Amino acid sequence: MSFLSEAVRRINPSPTIAMTQRARELRASGRDVIGLAAGEPDFDTPAHIREAAAAAMDRGDTRYTAPDGTPALKAAIAAARARDWGETVAPAEIQVTAGGKQALFNALLATLDPGDEVIVPAPYWVSYPDIVRLCGATPVVVPTQAQDGFRLRPEALAAAITPRTKWLILNNPGNPTGAGYAAQALAALAEVLAAHPQVWTLSDEIYGPIAFAPFEFRSFTAVAPALRDRTLIVDGVSKAYAMTGWRIGWGIGPTPLLDAMRKVQSQSTTNACSISQAAAAAALEGPQDFIGESRAAFRRRRDAVVAALDACPGLSCPEPEGAFYVYPSVAGALGRTSRGGRALADDAAFCEALLEEEGVALVAGSAFGLSPHVRLSYAAADAVLAEACARIRRFCDGLS
Ligand code: PLP
Repeated sequence: MSFLSEAVRRINPSPTIAMTQRARELRASGRDVIGLAAGEPDFDTPAHIREAAAAAMDRGDTRYTAPDGTPALKAAIAAARARDWGETVAPAEIQVTAGGKQALFNALLATLDPGDEVIVPAPYWVSYPDIVRLCGATPVVVPTQAQDGFRLRPEALAAAITPRTKWLILNNPGNPTGAGYAAQALAALAEVLAAHPQVWTLSDEIYGPIAFAPFEFRSFTAVAPALRDRTLIVDGVSKAYAMTGWRIGWGIGPTPLLDAMRKVQSQSTTNACSISQAAAAAALEGPQDFIGESRAAFRRRRDAVVAALDACPGLSCPEPEGAFYVYPSVAGALGRTSRGGRALADDAAFCEALLEEEGVALVAGSAFGLSPHVRLSYAAADAVLAEACARIRRFCDGLS
């Protein structure tokens, strides 16, 4: 008999966090390593947000809050949602959580039983299938194609739905590909879902503000209002406001689901950090210049990285619509041998050899359920990205 639970034995530690840690250790041992494995903005949290946190501490916002968040932050979320996406939401439909990840976790724990199925398009954010497994349910992974922009096709969705399907998880714009679903693509999926009333949609929109024209981000419920009573929006300040360490996210959905999520939250972390909640309210209510400025920086970096990687022999790099990742194919490099004598059998071997020989840390596509690809996060300074791309180029030029 194992001391560890069956549930925990079903899941893996996050491979992106593992690769980031590996790069950190190599750097600590004196190696010159560029880490592009982590999914977080390189910018500092804007000053007015940090000041709001200090003010919150000074005025004594240091106690438990309501499990679903302070009234002030919930009001700020509702106002920002109306301002940014034209969506009206009541405070009872919002739950503030410790990062977007906890909103996802609360919702899945509150709804999944063994035997239930959750449709997860691949490539996926690493946590989706493992949270589903932790809840005892079954992730049904549906691969997407690079030629479809890594977007789930309505026919593929229809084919994957069974009587046991409880959720579809959509991520727009997506991690690890940066793929964005325009209104028409969302409407086509909504049409399929309309015929299956047992299927809920979890729309993870945490990268919503990081979208590059001409692509226009639209919230799922704005496109498919008829599905609102079976949709959970997951959002947060981590990516858009460079606040990954503050741990503030939220879920927006129908009250019966939210009540169940509040129950889970009240028996786990109680509430998200009171000081971070004040900071998040300031982020949503204060000046929004940071969003435009960081989006422009990400766009500039995307353009530079896509051009550089697409020119590498063996790589082919599609242009993403949002977030801060590229997901090039390494198919043309596999079956070859690196300058250091490593055989590149798969995308994991590619990443391993690149890290050892050129000191660039990426994450293998196998971690995200679609090979042969690698994910590069371009949330790093332009000069760092230029150096990383030069090293990747040298690595690819050296393959035989
Ligand atoms: N959703 C996606 C697609 C993500 O990539 C991440 C973070 O990497 C999250 C949710 C979680 O965000 P948070 O840090 O707010 O928990």
